[in-house]
Amino acid sequence: TQQIVLAARPVGTPTKDTFRFETTEVPALHAGQVLLQGLYYSVDPYMRGRMSDAKSYAPPFEVGKPFYGGVVAKVLSSKSDLFKEGDVVLGMLSWQQQIVANEKELRKVDTTIAPASYYLGILGMPGLTAYFGLMHIGKPKAGETVVVSGAAGAVGVLVGQMAKIHGCRVVGIAGTDEKVALIKKEFAFDEAINYKTTPNMRLAIKEACPNGVDIYFDNVGGPISDAVISNINFHARIPLCGQISLYNNTEMASGPRLQPMLLTRSVLMQGFIVFNFQDKYPEGFKHLAQWVKEGKLKTTETIIDGFDQLPTALLGLFKGHNTGKMLVKA
Ligand code: NDP
Repeated sequence: TQQIVLAARPVGTPTKDTFRFETTEVPALHAGQVLLQGLYYSVDPYMRGRMSDAKSYAPPFEVGKPFYGGVVAKVLSSKSDLFKEGDVVLGMLSWQQQIVANEKELRKVDTTIAPASYYLGILGMPGLTAYFGLMHIGKPKAGETVVVSGAAGAVGVLVGQMAKIHGCRVVGIAGTDEKVALIKKEFAFDEAINYKTTPNMRLAIKEACPNGVDIYFDNVGGPISDAVISNINFHARIPLCGQISLYNNTEMASGPRLQPMLLTRSVLMQGFIVFNFQDKYPEGFKHLAQWVKEGKLKTTETIIDGFDQLPTALLGLFKGHNTGKMLVKA
């Protein structure tokens, strides 16, 4: 079967040379194992961090070993009492077309309540990230103004809708006119700003947020965040979720650059990793599933066909090639 391994650790922006396709044998099953066929493979910005060997919250990918990440797969054959042929499961699995996995690393997903791909997005890690970042750190109150960057991405589009559910005014920041139009029309954002075509972001945010910014859900960092923080309110909250604009930098930027603003306005800025909330996942999943069922929370996906497209899809995240959750369908 085909697999994709880390060929070399990238310096700066990864390229096609970061990845290598290999053919590998599928070993025979032992007791408690299943043979899987990958259906959907998630590509996520955090994977850039794992390509480097810098110490982080998760161990790095190993050179010469397969990439791995969230995968939804179908059971082809089973030597496990927990899973049978035809079951659809979710796990952190290798980028292989066919995968032998241990039953302990898998969770069955219910494809009668939502499509299989949702378990990598709205009902999966990105959904939980949006939920815990906004609800447990942002703590939105009706009438407040919420700004979210990376607003047309997997996490961002959910954050905006959740803030609307809680009666907030929501302003999104994204990188194309199509994305800006979509989040206003389909996802009910009150305002949206294209950061690539707006010369003065600080002013644009001031105009879009006449009452200032009470919650800034930060997915991107860099100059966009500077512009939002310049408009931050007293006692605002900043869930620090992602810094994608900085992940490919070879030198660490100094920042946050607006500390005096954070200080004088008594702002709470809190970084978080979704796994911090692991013990509360059932709470998050319950709300996400309920809102999806009620039609209050919707998603959009960019699904690229073909296992061999995984590197292209992953690199595409850093160029804004996706709207909503980026997935590869094998
Ligand atoms: P997205 O679906 O949002 O995809 C990434 C998007 O980022 C792109 O579509 C692009 O949109 C935008 N982007 C890329 N480069 C830049 C740049 N230089 N400046 C501004 N925007 C840029 O990914 P996710 O929703 O999966 O993740 C969003 C963020 O949340 C990431 O930073 C990620 O690392 C973080 N995250 C954190 C988690 C946690 O536990 N803390 C868990 C999951 C995600 P555009 O066209 O608008 O530029």
